[in-house]
Amino acid sequence: VVTGEIVSQLGQLTIRIGEDDIAIEGPATGQAPRAVPGDPASLRRWIRFDDAGRYRPLSGARSMRANWQADLPSIAAMDAAIEAVYPLALEHLAAASEGRLRIVGLDEVLSRQSGRYQVAAGLGTAGRDAATAVLCARCVKSPAWAGGATPPGGIPCPEPCSVLVALCREAALWEREPPEAAPVNAEAAFADFETPGNEVREAYLRLRKDDLG
Ligand code: SF4
Repeated sequence: VVTGEIVSQLGQLTIRIGEDDIAIEGPATGQAPRAVPGDPASLRRWIRFDDAGRYRPLSGARSMRANWQADLPSIAAMDAAIEAVYPLALEHLAAASEGRLRIVGLDEVLSRQSGRYQVAAGLGTAGRDAATAVLCARCVKSPAWAGGATPPGGIPCPEPCSVLVALCREAALWEREPPEAAPVNAEAAFADFETPGNEVREAYLRLRKDDLG
């Protein structure tokens, strides 16, 4: 660490603020980092896919590309870059630290779904807990809406996201008609819960196998 450099962690990002330079970095696996443009539009494009080329529908998914660095000209540019990578994270951290984070629970979010997602409200407590456990464990955010604490470097999540709602929809259908488990297929799209082999689907079915008929 260079003298005067401040290094902090936010989700999977490392943030370095030196005397003369500022940078954000993706997870390091020991390879030389690739330079990535630090403007928000470029960063949004960069983090949209994981290293295997899979689309990342969940901004907090623990699947950020590894070994990259974006140099930033100012603190304002750094904030904009963080906003591009983790939308609303800085706002939610500030709100949580000031005790004004507005929490909305899963019951409320599921009960207001309509159309294709209305069926999600029929998912019981055990199913909701299992869906939350398998999905939120794959996300850098901490579900404050479920009463969880946010660890240092974490990001509080004030409201269940649309990906969790989509999982609850599928889970409600699985609870009625349990599907066959399948081997995990690492190439299956992250939020394609209907597809056998989807890692989240298989984790849910494993967790619920004693209760699903
Ligand atoms: S609900 Fe869970 S998976 Fe969705 S953003 Fe919040 S913590 Fe992440």
